[in-house]
This record gives sequence, C-alpha cells and structure tokens, in this order.
Amino acid sequence: MAQYDYDLFVIGGGSGGVRAARVSAGLGKRVGIAEEYRFGGTCVIRGCVPKKLFVYASQFPEHFEDAAGYGWTVQPATFDWRKLVANKDREIARLEGLYRLGVENAGGQTFQTRAVLVDRHTILLESENRTVTADQILIATGGRPNPHLALPGHEHCIFSNEAFDLPELPKAIVIAGGGYIAVEFANIFHGLGVHTTLIYRGKEILGRFDMDLRRMLHETMEKKGIRIICHEIFSAIERRADGRLDAYLQGGEVIVADQVMLALGRIPNTEDLGLENAGVERGKVGSILVDDYSRTNVGNIWAIGDVTNRVQLTPVAIHEAMCFVETAFRNNPVAPDHDCVATAVFSQPEIGTVGLSEDEAARRFHSIEVYRATFRPLRHTMSGRDERMLMKLIVDAQTRLVLGAHILGPDAGEMAQLLGISLKAGLTKDDFDRTMAVHPTAAEELVTMYKPSYLVKNGERVG
Ligand SMILES: Cc1cc2nc3c(=O)[nH]c(=O)nc-3n(C[C@H](O)[C@H](O)[C@H](O)COP(=O)(O)OP(=O)(O)OC[C@H]3O[C@@H](n4cnc5c(N)ncnc54)[C@H](O)[C@@H]3O)c2cc1C
Repeated sequence: MAQYDYDLFVIGGGSGGVRAARVSAGLGKRVGIAEEYRFGGTCVIRGCVPKKLFVYASQFPEHFEDAAGYGWTVQPATFDWRKLVANKDREIARLEGLYRLGVENAGGQTFQTRAVLVDRHTILLESENRTVTADQILIATGGRPNPHLALPGHEHCIFSNEAFDLPELPKAIVIAGGGYIAVEFANIFHGLGVHTTLIYRGKEILGRFDMDLRRMLHETMEKKGIRIICHEIFSAIERRADGRLDAYLQGGEVIVADQVMLALGRIPNTEDLGLENAGVERGKVGSILVDDYSRTNVGNIWAIGDVTNRVQLTPVAIHEAMCFVETAFRNNPVAPDHDCVATAVFSQPEIGTVGLSEDEAARRFHSIEVYRATFRPLRHTMSGRDERMLMKLIVDAQTRLVLGAHILGPDAGEMAQLLGISLKAGLTKDDFDRTMAVHPTAAEELVTMYKPSYLVKNGERVG
C-alpha cells in the first residue's frame, strides 16, 4: 500500500497550480489540488482575462470615432456597465469550469477549500476538516494586492479585485500606482467614459520598461484626457457626506472621486499557510524561497508562480509548472528560464516588449546601436486620430545581436510574441535585415530600419 494518499498535492488552483496538477495527473500520478476561491486563479478570475475583456470594451468609443473617416455614421452610442460585468462573469465561469475539468479529466482530484500545511507531508483541508498526506507538495498560492494599510482611509479604497465587479461605473476615479495594472485600468476606465486621474510616486510610469515608450505612452494618455500626476502620493482618503471620496495628495491638492483604486504592488499569499510547521523558509517580502528548480529548503516541498516573487506573469507560472513536472516526476531536472521574457502592457496604445531597454543595454554593453522609428499608423491617416506608433531595436554594435525590441502602438503585444522568438533564438540585426517585409503592415518597420538612429558608447549618446 502507498505510504501517502497522493503522489502530489497542489495548494492553489491558479495558472501554475492547475497546470502542474493536470500534467502530473496525466502522467499517472495520484494528484490532489485545493483551491480556496475559484479555479483558474488570478489570471482567469480577476487578472489577465477579465482585464483584456474590459480593455476591448473600453476601446469601442475610439473605434466609433475612427469610423467617421471611413464613411460611417455611428448613432450616439450608449454603454451598459452591468451588462459588461454580467457577460464577463459568464465567460469567466465557463473558463473556471474548464480549468477544474481539465484536472479531473486527467485523473486528478479537486477540492474547493483552503489548504494549509500541518507538516512536510500532511495538508489540512480546512472546509472538510480533515487531513491528507502527500509525497510531494507544490505551493502555488499566488499573490494579492498590497492593501497599503498605512494609508489613512485605505478602507475606502478598492483594488484590482473589486474593479472587475463594481456595482456602478464611477463618474470619476483616482488610481494610485505606476505599474502595468494601474496604467491598464486608467486606460480602461477612461475609455469607458470615467474621469480618470493616475497618481504615481516615481518620475515616470512603468518603471523597468524602455524610457522612450514610457514617455510617449504618458503623453498619449494625457492627450486622450487622462490626468497623470507623477512624484505624488496620497496622504489620506476620506469619505464625504455625499458618499463620494476626497483623495488628499501630499502636495496639498484634494481630488474628489467616486472610487479610489490602489494598485501599489502585490504581496505573496504565504501567511497562515503552515509554512513554519513544515520548516519552509520565506524571503524578505514573505515570498517562498526556492532554488533554481523551484524546490524549497524542504526537499519534498516546491513552490512556483507569483508566491515565489520571481517574474509575476501567467506564462512564467505555467513554464515553472512544466519545469517542476519534468524535474519531480520525469527524472529530467529542468530549471525555469526567466531570461528574455516577452511581455505586453494593454494600455491604449499598447506596449509590446522583449529584452533589454536602451538604458539597461547601455549599462551592460560597451556600444549599442539604436534603431528607432515613429510614424502614424496607416489606419489613422483616414481616421484622423492624432496618435503615433514607436518601434525600437537595441543592437549590440560589436556582435550585431538584437538585445531588445520595443513597440508602442496597436497590436504591439501580438508583435512582441513573435519578436520574443527572434530574440530568444539569438538573431542578429543582419537576420532582421535579410527578412522580407510584410506590406502594408506596421510590423514591416521592424525589418526596414536599416540605419541606426544613434549610437550609445560607454553610456553616452553619440551621433
Ligand atoms: C489585474 C491583473 C492583471 C494581470 N494581467 C496579466 C497579463 O495581462 N498577463 C500576464 O501574464 N499576467 C497578468 N497578471 C499576473 C497573473 O495573473 C499572475 O502572474 C498569475 O495568475 C500567477 O499564477 P499563480 O499560479 O502563481 O497564482 P494565481 O493565479 O494567483 O493562483 C493562486 C491561487 O491560489 C489560491 N490560494 C491561495 N492560498 C490558498 C490556500 N491556502 N489554499 C487553497 N488555495 C489557495 C488563490 O485563491 C488563487 O486562486 C495579472 C494580474 C492581475 C492582478
């Protein structure tokens, strides 16, 4: 008889946990997985998927405007927030079912409960009030928005979780944060007709992205009507007698809004998880410490995804899950590869990016060539929209290796996916030059920028 109830027990049914459970069960392992909220996790229930659906919803007003240049007359459009939320909920419920079924069809057992560690092989299923045992345990509990408890009046604020299900669309919102979640929601709410202000303590939104894109996105968002205030933080939030909110800024201004949203980073879900019962070590921000193979300091306990605070993206959590399965169950140790991860910001316009920013490349390489083009996308020549696109390639002048590719404009995320393959394959600028353009597209610019716009040597721009 087997020593344990399961070969693998997974805590957390999000992107990483579900993938690890499904694939391990498919290998014939006896797998259990517990989810305390909804299968699918952050990405499916209150992250990537509903966000992208809301991005689509918020883009229609510009499409209606742009249609005029092409001969269309669009009747005055109306928008129903509750219908959007209800339709989104239906789609999310469908996906949630598929995630759960995927595990069960592969032979895994799903549990709708919070799970905590009792010891290194024992898990308590809280709502069933019983324990199960497992040979290997995988922690994939993800993260949650930083509640920012030090802010007076934080209890009046919402986070990305609540933004997806507000009973009413606010007339005015103030969003704090400069990361991609804050920026994307600022664009979503603005597109839906909400008077939107974005407040960020740093000097420019979207730290770690290429500065060129950050500046141009900032300018474009302002031109659309989003107010962006950098170098600023809230000092307090107060509920007014009329039910609205006063957002006090440290600089003295008071902004009146119906909702104040905090998007000030995310923290790993590791509290009250029983980690100390099993002796699992945590890092500075409470994340679970793992080695290159996602193994914790306790040999049979592993952790993947946001809870490890490495790269907090869905495809990364899924990749880490696949590496975990190879390592733990296929006798083929594979360390997750976090280098050159292509990513998108679904701002309006969109950002697609992979590899090193100009500043980072200039720090790491002696001399780099920067190929840069800005232009008005063909679509906007007739729509009349005054919006430009930016494309940039960063190339190591010595080896000709393309170190970074950065795009701001329509479909930038789709382009970044394909550029990700080129950069991962270690292609050179000469390979880009040898590639035939697809015409007429915006992406053709990526293979037709033959001459560098400028060089950067020893960190200094020359020429
Ligand atoms: C608003 C928003 C937008 C995003 N947009 C994108 C995007 O466009 N692209 C992208 O790649 N990434 C995006 N992300 C990030 C992405 O959602 C995460 O990186 C990804 O979901 C991480 O997967 P995970 O498996 O580590 O954790 P999660 O998906 O968070 O899953 C963890 C699960 O564990 C459960 N859980 C926690 N504790 C317990 C417990 N003790 N017992 C049982 N269950 C427990 C939670 O309920 C949760 O369902 C976004 C995130 C947010 C918040």
